[in-house]
Amino acid sequence: MTSQYRLTKFRTADTGNDIFELTHDDPPPVQDGEVLVRLDWISIDPAMTGWTTNKRSYMPPVQPGKIMRAFGIGEVMETKYEGLAAGDWVTGFTGMQTEGVLKGKHLRKVDVNLAPPNHYLSGFTGMQTEGVLKGKHLRKVDVNLAPPNHYLSGLGMTGYTGYFGMLDIGKPEPGKTVVVSAAAGAVGTIAAQSAKMAGARVIGIAGGPIKCAFLKEELLLDGAIDYKSDNIGEGLTRECPNGIDIYFDNVGGDILDAVLARINYKGTIVVCGAISQYADFYNQAGPKNYMQLIAQSAKMQGFTMKDYMHRVPEAFIALLTAQKKGDLIFREHIVEGIESFPIAFEMLFRGGNQGKLLIKVRS
Ligand code: NDP
Repeated sequence: MTSQYRLTKFRTADTGNDIFELTHDDPPPVQDGEVLVRLDWISIDPAMTGWTTNKRSYMPPVQPGKIMRAFGIGEVMETKYEGLAAGDWVTGFTGMQTEGVLKGKHLRKVDVNLAPPNHYLSGFTGMQTEGVLKGKHLRKVDVNLAPPNHYLSGLGMTGYTGYFGMLDIGKPEPGKTVVVSAAAGAVGTIAAQSAKMAGARVIGIAGGPIKCAFLKEELLLDGAIDYKSDNIGEGLTRECPNGIDIYFDNVGGDILDAVLARINYKGTIVVCGAISQYADFYNQAGPKNYMQLIAQSAKMQGFTMKDYMHRVPEAFIALLTAQKKGDLIFREHIVEGIESFPIAFEMLFRGGNQGKLLIKVRS
């Protein structure tokens, strides 16, 4: 059965997230330039709040009645687009649906590894068709590029966002202190690890002891602040005794103000998101401490991935290489079935997700 979520009405102060309807319409016939795609994975993103609100933003909102916008990855089943063949794997804005007819030119063909873990061994294996060898003399290698889900997490838009926002705008380097909020999330994990790989001292902010332990023990950050149990100002003073040079902001609100109060001379605030403010439809808080930008000759710069689409191959190769070398972790939080979309979406605003939130469409 084909399923899709449609937007029923624009989000307002009164609607909350009760604005989606599950429908079961068959896809229309494939026309010239189009392909039928069967989705395997769908990404759930905080940006969906903006896509369902009729306000000026970086892209127009989804119109009521239309299938909800979402990134996805899946297989081409039928094609009338000469750039794609049946069996190709594609990613892009494929919508919150189990299958759909899409314009071929809007999709990107990707090389997927369909049987992870697909570990092959390399070494002096001898001139033989098969043989018994010492395990310690062999090196484990992955033969294909990546499993499909990675194209929506570390190798997808959220991965690129953390990579470019941190490296191109934040510009971390040895000797700099970097702070990342929502550091255990999809964008935050990549931003924090990118700064670590650049040699900076990195402090992550997250909600709860489990996420903070993950930041220190698995991402190997230099410190973590649990903003739900710690006083954020005291935590920043403790973890950043020499102030903050770069702040990668995913949340806005009080945490942004606490960082502004501690930003160093010529510091940089990368404005990636403001998730603490998304639910407040009319009274979204701006920074109160913004005059610190004057006192410290500091800057705040916003961005979206629109600015970097022409550089995606660069990020893809860097992130893939780092992940294959074991220097970068892609953390994913997987929920089963398209029906879980509305409930899973709420998780993002309660901190329920442990990494990139993805729907596994087919089991
Ligand atoms: P995450 O995987 O980080 O999930 C969201 C996390 O935000 C939650 O798990 C929660 O973590 C944290 N959070 C939620 N509410 C609050 C709050 N009130 N105060 C502090 N933290 C909160 O999502 P993404 O990585 O996909 O997105 C992170 C941010 O990046 C969002 O603001 C998003 O809009 C933005 N973004 C921007 C892009 C761009 O191009 N500029 C592209 C993609 C995302 P915790 O448990 O730690 O509270």
